[in-house]
Amino acid sequence: MHIEDELVPEVELDCPEPGCGGKLRRRFSERTGKYFYGCARYSETGCRGAVGCHADGSPLGIPGDATVRQARRRAHAVFDRLWKPRPMGRREAYKLASMWMGIPFQDMHIGNLDAEQCEQLVRATQAYLGASDIPPGCENCPWTRRNPVQLSERLKAIDQRIDALEKQLNSGRDDSD
Ligand SMILES: [Zn+2]
Repeated sequence: MHIEDELVPEVELDCPEPGCGGKLRRRFSERTGKYFYGCARYSETGCRGAVGCHADGSPLGIPGDATVRQARRRAHAVFDRLWKPRPMGRREAYKLASMWMGIPFQDMHIGNLDAEQCEQLVRATQAYLGASDIPPGCENCPWTRRNPVQLSERLKAIDQRIDALEKQLNSGRDDSD
């Protein structure tokens, strides 16, 4: 059951759809069982401008128009291969993303990215996955399970690449500071 008292106060958000000019209002979706911010003009114009909510009712990231939301779905589809179900943990994957994007780790959410940044993340992820010997999505396939050495070697290689990237990033940061 959803209890209004446990929610953070509703915030004012502009509808992200081009030309709408409406506001987003927080509502409860019976279908998903979650709160979301949806365009107040939906019943009038059919505008589908929306952004999801955290459990406390605060908006999930920065509202995006249909183009941005599509770019974010694509970014998730490609990027999530890094950690669903493996080869690395979610935290490691987002650590990599934050380094690739130059965004602080705590702010690195796909829901905060614009379309261009989503494309940047897709390209970085594809380049990264392309460097591996096991095709994306095959980390848990029967072949990989029969060849545990290759998988552990690969995880080691990923760790080394994360270390190297971190060092690279830290040295870059020292120069600019
Ligand atoms: Zn709207």
